[in-house]
Amino acid sequence: MANDKVSLEYGSLVFTDADMQERLPKPTYRELRRVIDEGKPINIDIANEVAHAMKQWALEKGATHFTHWFQPLTGITSEKHDSFLTPKTDGNILMTFSGKELIQGETDGSSFPSGGLRATFEARGYTIWDPMSPAFIKDEVLCIPTAFISYTGEALDKKTPLLRSEVALEVQAKRVLTLFGRHPKRVITNCGPEQEFFLIKESDYIARPDLILCGRTLFGCAPSKGQELEEHYFGAIRPSVNAYMKEVDDELWKLGIPMRTKHNEVAPCQHEMAPIYEQSSLAIDDNLLTMEKLKLMATHHGLACLEHEKPFDYVNGSGKHDNWSISADGENLLEPGDEPDENLQFLAFLCFLIAAVDEHADLLRASVASCGNDHRLGGHEAPPAIVSIFLGDELSPIVQALIKGKHVCAHGCDEVDLGVPALPNLARDNTDRNRTSPFAFTGNKFEFRMCGSQQNISDSNVVLNTAVAEQCDKFANDLQDCTKENFVERAMEWIRTSLQEHKRILFEGNGYAASWEEEAARRGLKNNKTTPDALPCMVEPRNIAFFEKYHVLSEAEQRARYISQAEQYSKLMNIEANTMVYMARTMYLPALYRYSGSCAQSVEHIAALGINDTTQRAVVQQLVAGIQAITQAANELEQENAYAHTIDSPKEQNDYYRDVITSKMATLRASVDAMEPLCDRSIWPVPSYNDILFYV
Ligand code: ADP
Ligand code: MG
Repeated sequence: MANDKVSLEYGSLVFTDADMQERLPKPTYRELRRVIDEGKPINIDIANEVAHAMKQWALEKGATHFTHWFQPLTGITSEKHDSFLTPKTDGNILMTFSGKELIQGETDGSSFPSGGLRATFEARGYTIWDPMSPAFIKDEVLCIPTAFISYTGEALDKKTPLLRSEVALEVQAKRVLTLFGRHPKRVITNCGPEQEFFLIKESDYIARPDLILCGRTLFGCAPSKGQELEEHYFGAIRPSVNAYMKEVDDELWKLGIPMRTKHNEVAPCQHEMAPIYEQSSLAIDDNLLTMEKLKLMATHHGLACLEHEKPFDYVNGSGKHDNWSISADGENLLEPGDEPDENLQFLAFLCFLIAAVDEHADLLRASVASCGNDHRLGGHEAPPAIVSIFLGDELSPIVQALIKGKHVCAHGCDEVDLGVPALPNLARDNTDRNRTSPFAFTGNKFEFRMCGSQQNISDSNVVLNTAVAEQCDKFANDLQDCTKENFVERAMEWIRTSLQEHKRILFEGNGYAASWEEEAARRGLKNNKTTPDALPCMVEPRNIAFFEKYHVLSEAEQRARYISQAEQYSKLMNIEANTMVYMARTMYLPALYRYSGSCAQSVEHIAALGINDTTQRAVVQQLVAGIQAITQAANELEQENAYAHTIDSPKEQNDYYRDVITSKMATLRASVDAMEPLCDRSIWPVPSYNDILFYV
């Protein structure tokens, strides 16, 4: 091993494969690998040995506690720490950790959102070890990645359906590959999540209750300067941010998270960090850890990290690009390659993706629906709420030719008469020009760009995996009776028919253009602009049947997920409305009373000198009118929000927030923001956009 700092420290806080190999007896290690690689159940003797080795390793690294680390429906991670300590009768202690404690934990899950599942079943929740994700140490705690389920086995978390969808996809993809004469041991998906975030001064953060309580600013007039000079994107990283990112990198590398890229983003104070891709469930665990560390480490540098999708109006919000690919024993099935016989296989998987996204665009849209992301999607900074696929200059003509049933031009445009087009080795850099597309083919992977920055992207991957599994299933069913002689022809025909059926989802143009909305409507593509519009499809019979068929989510689980997401939306809207009323009454209005009072005094003083001044008098009048408007808007928002809070049906409540509360919030914001440019900045009760976004 190299002895540079990074090589020495990389993964030092992870119980890696090398650690297992070194510390476990050979037969135990071999059995554990079977559990990990083949998804076999683990027996208690093996678990005891693994637990012992894991504990010894953790103690040597200074750990005192262990925890089952899991992802409840809030999307973030949860943990409850237990120490290894067991008192002995002689007054000494033992540090213990059993196989049972490793495999399963019990937790009173009643304080986690369950969408009603626990009311119908049982209050207790269980955490079950996921041996596919390695254990790691965080703040002297041995963290064991787990799935979180109810007493009767219902998934109460984000990870369980993800793992189930990976199984469904693997099973169906293997059936397809068998038809191509391939018999891989494993088919997995890979994921590389690019994480965007804002970094502002901690002192500004602390001064704004809206940032603390809601993660975004609920007030603030436009800054004098926005992102129009395009100077921030890829600009030199400011020293305090650089020091912070170095610390984040160091910490994440120790946790075995392969962080690679860091740069400034488009909006002022906006940044991005991205890892090298990994197997999806691991990549998502690592993304959640990354988000946690990003927040925590910022405080070491006098900074605050904002992971909300839209912390500031007037500048871009933050997303998380979900780069997705599927591979068989390490071979990327979305790599076009240049061997014609492999091209057919590539074309098949490309076609599965296209059909999958078209058939389940509604669920994909729902998987990124959140209060925060509503401010971002369709805002000319992120893809619109319409799902479509961009293939790029090289692939698109090939697919279009296939759809039309023409002979296909290969690279260099020699006509190929086989019905099997020879695909060019795509120049990866040329494929990613369209940033307005929600779902873009980028050389050898798809990039789903609708995900919000603070989301757990398991939800999107669950939809994608299951939808692709369904297409693989159809292909395998339709072609399983093919002969060697007619397979190529029938496969090409299947692909052509499927592409013809699903071509409406393909769009190479500008996704931000208003004309696309009209065109998409003509094509019958949905445009669910808000969370209340997007979520209800989750409980449509066809979507329930879809997840049930592939054993990814039962009807009860899917309904629970809908309720949980809908409740989350209403709760966040309620908190935002409460915070606005609170800030208006306790911060903005009192500041305006004082300021209008002092301006009025000034008018009086001037008048006492016999000078007739109308301009200052007009300002006082504007301030008083503003005070009245704010008071009225706050009262109305408070009343409507109190009513919204009493609505029982999650759907009706969501709709009420969308239709009534958002506009009342906008009115209150506008009335406060209109006052900001009239006031002496020293009396304004919170830091302004100018202050926050352009700090030195
Ligand atoms: P950008 O989208 O900013 O141009 P890159 O092309 O460098 O960025 O890749 C973005 C992310 O995609 C990275 O996290 C990278 O590891 C990931 N990625 C690259 N190849 C694959 C793949 N085959 N499967 C999944 N993710 C991938
Ligand atoms: Mg990207």
